[in-house]
Amino acid sequence: MGTGTSYGIPMVGCDCAVCRSKDPRDHRLRTSTLIRAGKTVVLLDTPPDFRQQCLTYGIRELDAVFISHAHADHIFGFDDLRPLTRRRAEPLPVYATPGTASEMRKIFAYLGVPPLPGTSLARVKLHGVDEPVQVGDLLATPLPVRHGRAAMAGWKFQPVAPEAAPRRTEPPSACIISDCKAIPPETIALCKHTDLLVLDALRDEPHPTHMNIAEALAAIAAIGPRQALLTHLCHALGHAELCARLPSGVSVAYDGLSLAI
Ligand SMILES: [Zn+2]
Ligand SMILES: [Zn+2]
Ligand SMILES: [Zn+2]
Repeated sequence: MGTGTSYGIPMVGCDCAVCRSKDPRDHRLRTSTLIRAGKTVVLLDTPPDFRQQCLTYGIRELDAVFISHAHADHIFGFDDLRPLTRRRAEPLPVYATPGTASEMRKIFAYLGVPPLPGTSLARVKLHGVDEPVQVGDLLATPLPVRHGRAAMAGWKFQPVAPEAAPRRTEPPSACIISDCKAIPPETIALCKHTDLLVLDALRDEPHPTHMNIAEALAAIAAIGPRQALLTHLCHALGHAELCARLPSGVSVAYDGLSLAI
């Protein structure tokens, strides 16, 4: 639902060719992804554009929210979970790694505090986890990666195999790593040969906390996914121009892209 870097594209006050582009794939809200398996629908990240994304994509209910890390461009739409939690019997579960969960508790100090009568807060229950979590028909596994000072986790999502079915092969998986400078070997192993890898690729120039295109392509080669998508782009990259120079099996995510795996 969002594939842009923290500024979004167009960037406020910028007149560059990408910010002025008429190609809708060059308009990028801040990063978030909706994941469905069976009857289960979960969200990865609540960016500042989350309210608009709910309206655009008709989001009315969620079974859980996963947070990648506590940077503003991934969490500052968190309060807009309020209308999605009002009618739930139980608080909406939110999962993040323990480091990110403790940063979230500092930023959103009201978490865990009952609202004053007549006021509303997002009715959520925040869980710090560093192990796989099952939510309905989905299994989610944290993917620790390096991203500057932030405790950052991508997430791997897989449908839960029906218990009665004979074990054939590993269920399909999607690994989503939106912000990343380097992927440690243990996380490469968790992603190996995934069906879909969605990976940070900010721009061509090197950046201290994000992968550039060359670094992302090297990581994709090491992981060997069936299909890869670049995301978290800045306005230095135009969609069509970038697509034209990528190797086969690698393409560029855009807002509104929907894929089945
Ligand atoms: Zn980001
Ligand atoms: Zn621009
Ligand atoms: Zn970040």
